[in-house]
Amino acid sequence: MKQQKTMIPPFTLARQNKELMPRLTEVVNTVIESGHFILGDNVKKLEEEIATYCGARFAVGVASGSDAIYLSLLACDVGPGDEVITTPFTFFATAGAIIRVGARPVFADIEEETFNIDMEKVAGYVTKKTKAIIPVHLYGCAADMDPLKELLSGKNISIIEDAAQALGTKYKDCKIGSGSDAVCFSFFPTKNLGSFGDAGIVTTDDQELAERLRVLRVHGSKPKYYHEVFGCNSRLDEIQAAILRVKLPHLDNWIEQRRAKSAIYTKILSTAKDIKYPREPLYTYHSYHQYTIRTNERDRLQTYLQEQGIGTAIYYPLCLHQQKVFNELGYKTGDFPVSEKAAAEVLSLPMFPELTDKEAAYVAEEVVRCER
Ligand SMILES: *Cc1c(COP(=O)(O)O)cnc(C)c1O
Repeated sequence: MKQQKTMIPPFTLARQNKELMPRLTEVVNTVIESGHFILGDNVKKLEEEIATYCGARFAVGVASGSDAIYLSLLACDVGPGDEVITTPFTFFATAGAIIRVGARPVFADIEEETFNIDMEKVAGYVTKKTKAIIPVHLYGCAADMDPLKELLSGKNISIIEDAAQALGTKYKDCKIGSGSDAVCFSFFPTKNLGSFGDAGIVTTDDQELAERLRVLRVHGSKPKYYHEVFGCNSRLDEIQAAILRVKLPHLDNWIEQRRAKSAIYTKILSTAKDIKYPREPLYTYHSYHQYTIRTNERDRLQTYLQEQGIGTAIYYPLCLHQQKVFNELGYKTGDFPVSEKAAAEVLSLPMFPELTDKEAAYVAEEVVRCER
């Protein structure tokens, strides 16, 4: 008889929810009973708690990570005629936000080792039209910010970090969240800190920018029903804020758990011949939002793992410059070879804090076994 296979999903909240359920239902009930659903006490407190957590002066809750980027661009006055430099190897929203404000995305290739934008290449794309740059801390590994700040010093170019995957990640001893014009986080359910729906937040040290964001998220209205700027409806709601406040105190421990599972993966995978596993550059404390390996046998490996009951994911199978919707930008296949190679080789292994040591070892052993 065939032995029943273990089923390991690429991600699940079920184990975490089970543990927190009594407290979660309690706070949701409290919000329902309060009758206050938009921009209430929970949002205000969450904003303070996230700012403190990241070491930023201000935090402004918004409806999603995508909107966090969109509103940050608006707040930095980026619009038609402007260029914004970013990576072609990221989630669609990074570049989507640039289009939404009417500006033009300009892509720069990534580093092979970190999957993050190659700061040395950025210099070649800075023009008089460059208004902002959006580095992405992909998979929870910090982008190398200091060389970028050096490159842009004295230039009037805003830095907006896409930290959707990097809440809890550190860059040189400091949590991601301060030191740039704006830092954008997502609380999408699968992120390091996940709500039960869509939610996001922007952190900043700039009081004026924080104030602009607060106005932009309520249709640019200040005072109420008087509009001097064009905004939209983009608020983090009370129920999500209440849920996130229950979870936030656990976040550092969850990230340690992610790192512990990653260490198990790395130890076993270092015995593999043709698998490249993630490295942690000295300047970052990686939060392992994803544990992403690469191999030129990616599709075969993914099918094999699926047969062993192991779910995996590909972030991302097609680079942004190759997306149909960006045809008009005039890019073609071959323009960003490091990104294109990554898209063909990456595979993210199961990663969530509650993954057991045994499961992690099993996954990594199966990856090694597939090579034989
Ligand atoms: C998730 C994600 C976003 C968008 O966040 P949402 O909350 O889903 O809108 C943006 N950029 C990156 C890199 C992401 O992973």
